[in-house]
Amino acid sequence: MSQRLPDIHPADLTEQLTNFQNKGKAILATNFYNYETLRGILQAASSMEQPIILQLTKSSLDYMGLSSAVKMARAGLQQFNIKGWLHLDHCYSYSLIQQCLDAGFDSVMIDASERPMEENINITRRVVDLAAEYNANVEAELGYVAKLGQSTDQVGFTDPDEAKQFVEATGVHALAVAIGSAHGFYKQEPKLDIELLAAIREKTGIPLVLHGGSGIPATALQAAVKNGICKINLATEIKNIFIQTLQACLTENAEIDLRIVFPPAINAVSDLVKEKLTIINQR
Ligand SMILES: [Zn+2]
Repeated sequence: MSQRLPDIHPADLTEQLTNFQNKGKAILATNFYNYETLRGILQAASSMEQPIILQLTKSSLDYMGLSSAVKMARAGLQQFNIKGWLHLDHCYSYSLIQQCLDAGFDSVMIDASERPMEENINITRRVVDLAAEYNANVEAELGYVAKLGQSTDQVGFTDPDEAKQFVEATGVHALAVAIGSAHGFYKQEPKLDIELLAAIREKTGIPLVLHGGSGIPATALQAAVKNGICKINLATEIKNIFIQTLQACLTENAEIDLRIVFPPAINAVSDLVKEKLTIINQR
């Protein structure tokens, strides 16, 4: 394993995640899908005076267009005067990662967690090298966090020694860990393995990320944050509250002015994000 020289200066988000981790706090990372969900998120971050990570997936980029999505997010952060970063969520394509870095993303996730360890190391390392040219933050994943539609019965928690080896071999800045969360809604209340999390933190010493933040009880989220999770991803609950509120609004009346129909759904997203920001930043 070759010795890697430390970056001259860490990426801004890497630095902030480390600060939050040291303080026993976390930055919320929210996926947005359109102007309305973005606005709800920004309203919440602004009223709570909290920084926010705005996440886009390949599907969301396909839907909105890379350039439009980036410009809308940047303009929104500026309009609401919020400290925020643009992050590419779950990506296995090196070329899409490069496109996003070229478009000004602050952070990218290379997710090769379903590949063998050696392959995961190799591609993550390539992405870390690429991102260094942009001074961007890189997140990778090790272990099995069930994706939408995947079985949550399979267990593949992150092994602390493997995590240490992975971090040393790749130089990755943040690591998504498998400690009992899953994407989508939970059939039964998830149990996070906090002891395992503490061991991973001890071995790796880098910012740790919790995926599948939707539906995890407040006390479990807080325990995770106290033990090294400093980025919490929230997507499913945002989509859910937005659509549920919109559906209710459309059922109630025949209003066709979308500037009247959408605001209750925007406000519902905002309330949800405020609630999560309160939970994860409690002392
Ligand atoms: Zn995820």
